[in-house]
Amino acid sequence: MDLKGKLYSKLERYVKIDTQSDDKSSSFPTTSKQFDLLKLLAEELKQIGAKEVNMDKWGYVTATIPATADGNYPVIGFLAHVDTSPDAPGKGVKPQIHKCWQGGNIEINKALGIVLNTSNCPELAPFKGEDIVTASGDTLLGADDKAGIAIIMTAAEYLLQHKEIKHGRLRIAFTPDEEVGQGVDHFDVKAFGADYAYTFDGDVAGCIEMENFNAHAVKINITGKSVHPGTAKNSLANAIRIAGDIISSWPENLLPENAEGREGFIMFTDLSAEIEKAELSGIVREHDSAKLLSMEKQLEAIVEAKRYKYPSAKIEISFREQYRNMVEIINQHPKVMDNLKEAVRMAGLEPRIKPVRGGTDGARLSFMGLPTPNIFTGGYNYHGRYEWVSLDGMNKSAEVLLNLAQLWAK
Ligand SMILES: [Zn+2]
Repeated sequence: MDLKGKLYSKLERYVKIDTQSDDKSSSFPTTSKQFDLLKLLAEELKQIGAKEVNMDKWGYVTATIPATADGNYPVIGFLAHVDTSPDAPGKGVKPQIHKCWQGGNIEINKALGIVLNTSNCPELAPFKGEDIVTASGDTLLGADDKAGIAIIMTAAEYLLQHKEIKHGRLRIAFTPDEEVGQGVDHFDVKAFGADYAYTFDGDVAGCIEMENFNAHAVKINITGKSVHPGTAKNSLANAIRIAGDIISSWPENLLPENAEGREGFIMFTDLSAEIEKAELSGIVREHDSAKLLSMEKQLEAIVEAKRYKYPSAKIEISFREQYRNMVEIINQHPKVMDNLKEAVRMAGLEPRIKPVRGGTDGARLSFMGLPTPNIFTGGYNYHGRYEWVSLDGMNKSAEVLLNLAQLWAK
């Protein structure tokens, strides 16, 4: 099945709309420009004949593809996010298509010297002969996650035109603010009414994700004691110095720059300090919740040692849960992954299960009662000028959606 033409025309239309989210904003969505795409999608869903098309006050766009099979099958949801990352410019995206890539350099921008190849991105190597889409060197592409939106819209249109394909009730949702970690803050799981769902967000063809980090935030508050440096002996407690001591005592093998795969870490992300007071913040990340707790114990032990070393200071440490590894929930519903793996194989790919070194909207949805693993969209190098997506990978992803719809009605 070749839906590449349709996929590209949608992708091109969506990436040209600036939908960058803003982690410093306190409104929801964090930027009102995300409504530009959300409104367009609601309109397009109506045009292709989707039912129950709705946009709520938060901006969530939902719609239904009615069942074509008789019988009582689970309701399946498909989700993608409209916002792009605040980490790279997202306005004025000019997509370019590099047809039938032959394995050499892909010049994203000659003048700026932005060249994509298999040395700076080995993940590209298996996709020789495919149509690769990039931006033009001055912005990100926004395939994260507009490729996901194009995939869902293309597959939805196809299903609505081919009612001979038998499937149960399907639900679609487009959400704002995923990149700033707030994508499902106001999402009404009950109103969405799906039993299981899949996000289309991320990675190269074949990759599926059901595991993400357990994530805690850590805060260390240090109250020092200021004394004139001339008479400071045995009485000064300099909170700046103590914060530095704690930071440098954390083992190097447990830092993000030295970790990969399933290895966890603690990263200090912020420090404000003066002699009398310091506040140190950080994040704790680990797929295994027992290992996460043992890393926290290790940091607590370091803090305890500093309390003895600096008796006139007061040091407090606390942890706060941010999100949890969805594998815990997904494993309780084996059919969610069984059908997904089968759908990927039916599309002619071998499923590769990758642990996500971050969080996903799907992880939070899983803990809100909607088990939601993630499906590849066929791209890589997200959040930057080297971002690319393969149209062939997107085509495979759309096939996976069509296969899933049918597998759930068996
Ligand atoms: Zn994304």
